[in-house]
Amino acid sequence: MLITHDTRCALDTVVDLVNTAPEDDTAADGLPDVPALERFVREHEISDVGALSELDLSAVRRVRERFARIFAAPDARTAAGLINELVAAAGTTPRLTDHDGYDWHVHYFAPGASVADHLAADCGMALAFFVVAGERERLRRCEAPDCRRAFVDLSRNRSRRYCDSRTCGNRLHVAAYRARRREAAS
Ligand SMILES: [Zn+2]
Ligand SMILES: [Zn+2]
Repeated sequence: MLITHDTRCALDTVVDLVNTAPEDDTAADGLPDVPALERFVREHEISDVGALSELDLSAVRRVRERFARIFAAPDARTAAGLINELVAAAGTTPRLTDHDGYDWHVHYFAPGASVADHLAADCGMALAFFVVAGERERLRRCEAPDCRRAFVDLSRNRSRRYCDSRTCGNRLHVAAYRARRREAAS
C-alpha cells in the first residue's frame, strides 16, 4: 500500500500516543500534565491547536484510550466500528494541502479543531486506510511477554512481532540465540 509522508507521520503519532498510556496501575502516565502534552504536540508537529489546557489533556487521554482499543481489536469489523465512532465524534473537513513543500495530500481535521479532535480525525483516517487496504493486521501490539506497546508493522511480509523499544527486539534475539546454543550443545 502507498504510505504517504503524512500517513507515516500520523502513524508515528498515534503509536507514540498509545504508548504514553501507563501499562498498568503502578506505571507512570507518559502524558502526566499539560506541559507534557505541549511537548508531545511540538515533537509531532501537530499544527493549529492553540493554547492547551487541562480539558485538552483529559480529551487526549480519552482519544488515546480509543486508539488503544483499535490496536487491540480482534478483527477488521471491530476496528472499523471503533474508527467510525472516533472519526465521527471528531468531525472532519477533508482538504487538500501542499504545506511545507510536501506533495498534495489530504488533511482531515476541521479548522479550529482541538488537539484531541485533530488527532482523532487525522490519525483515525490513517488507520482507516489500513482497514481499507486489507492491512489492518499491521496494527500490532508487541508480543514480548511483559510488553504490550503498540506499533505498526511496515515490514514487507508483516513479520514483525516486537516493538521498537530496544529491550524487546534485543532481549528476544538474545533468548533465541541462547536457545539455539543450548540446542547445538546438547
Ligand atoms: Zn500535512
Ligand atoms: Zn515491546
